Amino acid sequence: MKVRVLGSSAGGGLPQWNCSCAGCTAARAGEVEPRTQSSIAVVDESAAGPRAFLVNASPDVRQQLTASPALHPGSTRRSPIEAVLLTDAEIDHTLGLLILREGAGVTVHATAASEAVLREGTGFLTTLEAYCPVTVVPVGLGVEAALTDDLTYTAFDLPTGKTPRFPVRGERSDGGSAGGPEEGRVVGYRFHDRRTGGVVVYAPGVADLAPLRAACDGADLLLVDGTCFHDDELVRLGLGRKTAADMGHVALERSLDALADLGVPRVVLVHVNNSNPILLPGAAEGLVVGKAGVEIGTDGTEFSA
Ligand SMILES: [Zn+2]
Repeated sequence: MKVRVLGSSAGGGLPQWNCSCAGCTAARAGEVEPRTQSSIAVVDESAAGPRAFLVNASPDVRQQLTASPALHPGSTRRSPIEAVLLTDAEIDHTLGLLILREGAGVTVHATAASEAVLREGTGFLTTLEAYCPVTVVPVGLGVEAALTDDLTYTAFDLPTGKTPRFPVRGERSDGGSAGGPEEGRVVGYRFHDRRTGGVVVYAPGVADLAPLRAACDGADLLLVDGTCFHDDELVRLGLGRKTAADMGHVALERSLDALADLGVPRVVLVHVNNSNPILLPGAAEGLVVGKAGVEIGTDGTEFSA
């Protein structure tokens, strides 16, 4: 399989429209590469033509696809993109679904929890259905599902413990379950290419590393949550009141050693927030990441597995 990082930034992108933090300012000045919002494409290239699957559809999806020749339509109105798999129902991971409305239809792989938010919370699926047919494929946890003859995925739960923004039916606003879909609000995906034996794990939202360990067993590549370096980074920079943990992300200052110890040959940070000092040239935090043997993903980076 081929994996392409379409967008390596967390929500807001780099630069973010309303921000002049050091990272956003450096991006506007051309000192660091701009970044679009988080998404990858997983491509099975064994068939006659490429068969592509997006994991998350960011608000920048149009720009990301334009920048990815392998994902251009082979003929008029025929895109190699067959479906979108969702890790959660966050706006920066799902707003792009609406931008795909010109297609003959959109197939979305989503857990029951994400589908519920997209219907009863943001309403994105309901809106999309007014434009084109939408097929929702239920994502089960721990069940290997085939995308093509060679390419499969297994979704695994990554509980955040955070209060849901959109409490859906049967779910209390404090995040407790009253019979509603509690599991599967945030998941990661383990992709397996049966032809090559390659295994790639994608987990852009990780609150706790424990559930990630088993999913990474035997993996060749891990693309993982690099949202914040310091847990209190947004507070420190005066950008917000929430810590990384409040937002459902374990900060690199806490996760880096464990990520380096997972036994995965390549660990690449994605979903990097514009506040993260690792984006700044020469920052001490970036050197710490490099020393740990962990890479910082950029838009357009491609991997084969
Ligand atoms: Zn910023």
